[in-house]
Amino acid sequence: MFKKVLIANRGEIALRIQRACREMGVKAVVVYSSADRDAKYVRLADEAVCIGPAASGASYLNMPAIIATAEVTDAEAIHPGYGFLSENADFAERVERSGFTFIGPTPESIRTMGDKVAAKQAMIKSGVPCVPGSEGALPDEPKEIIRQARAVGYPVIIKAAGGGGGRGMRVVHTEAALLHAVQTTRAEAGAAFGNPEVYMEKFLENPRHIEIQVLADQHKNAVWLGERDCSMQRRHQKIIEEAPAPGIARRVIERIGDRCVAACKKIGYRGAGTFEFLYENGEFFFIEMNTRVQVEHPVTEMVTGIDIVQMQIRVAAGEKLPFTQRAVQMRGHAIECRINAEDPYKFTPSPGRITMWHPPGGPGVRVDSHAYTNYFVPPNYDSMIGKIITHGDTREQALARMRIALSETVIEGISTNIPLHRELMVDAKFVEGGASIHYLEGWINSHRR
Ligand code: ADP
Repeated sequence: MFKKVLIANRGEIALRIQRACREMGVKAVVVYSSADRDAKYVRLADEAVCIGPAASGASYLNMPAIIATAEVTDAEAIHPGYGFLSENADFAERVERSGFTFIGPTPESIRTMGDKVAAKQAMIKSGVPCVPGSEGALPDEPKEIIRQARAVGYPVIIKAAGGGGGRGMRVVHTEAALLHAVQTTRAEAGAAFGNPEVYMEKFLENPRHIEIQVLADQHKNAVWLGERDCSMQRRHQKIIEEAPAPGIARRVIERIGDRCVAACKKIGYRGAGTFEFLYENGEFFFIEMNTRVQVEHPVTEMVTGIDIVQMQIRVAAGEKLPFTQRAVQMRGHAIECRINAEDPYKFTPSPGRITMWHPPGGPGVRVDSHAYTNYFVPPNYDSMIGKIITHGDTREQALARMRIALSETVIEGISTNIPLHRELMVDAKFVEGGASIHYLEGWINSHRR
């Protein structure tokens, strides 16, 4: 096992990784920007090094500064968390070339999965079902684009090969709008992701977002840790996640889980990863793979009892997975609400000082957050300030515990989306389970105030 790990991230995930390190007796070094000087994880870390100003480009995305910090602090491995450099193959490569271990998959895996066109091709080869769509990236010739869209059938969605974070997508309902949409998406993708390549998929009208968590070691072992339902989204961004997915038969999920494990073995995957699918009419369609820990990993941890972040570190250190697929059991149900510093109905960011922070507690309640009373939420980063996760023997119990947890939570000084969560936890359709990815947007539109 490593003696010291450097955490190249911020916020709740920096604290989460630190806790995993501490439990294993591994020292944690954190890097931080000047905007995060007073953050809790900075104070709690064994060592903390300021690597730059607030702008992420100069700090959390500053590869030379991060690698130099690993060098001067004698860290042996770098955990990238999620976002920032976590899915940057060049970073993974530079980390390894500088003699450190990158806690994640190989640069080649990251590169393949980071290019959604290449990822889909790899999945088709591995026998994982994909959303029907264009034959690879879209060509330039308008005639050919029109032909492929007709073959796929409207509505279609144009997506950036290098896209992420719910950006770089455009739905097209009619042929008249097609070429313009392709052109605009291409231009945006080039500017935002440095890769103008786009591809086309059938736009599924009523799917759920179901994803499979996998873990693989460097000794050809791989397992899947059940699924998560992340259909409650706004602008393609998840806000509520749960495990298991309500109302889907175990044998249907097992079939796709086994396919994911087979794909991991086929592509030589290592570390934690997530296969994302759209699920419609009993069928799974792969959309992308995330080659890192996800925001919503705690719901899986709560139902399986497996510490995913520790496992990432263990397999990066060369250890074998300490359990087999048969030992992975799902117990009960878990729900996560992402707490964002934003107006609950207008969604405008609400950074600033938290004058009162009172997190919930009690049986089956977990709070992953770096916030505290008097913490200043900087305006420079993502608005998520934490996550409340509840676990129960049944979905009803997890839901009841979430309602109580949300009612106990007090956050003053800034606006948060807690009022929205409180309403959704008693919404008839959400309570029933199985809402589609479009449900929340519709709900928000009909509850505009
Ligand atoms: P990102 O990498 O930006 O998260 P994804 O490919 O994972 O992009 O898609 C994000 C979300 O966009 C999905 O969860 C879903 O809500 C929506 N989406 C993507 N592809 C389709 C599709 N073919 N049909 C309908 N919705 C889609």
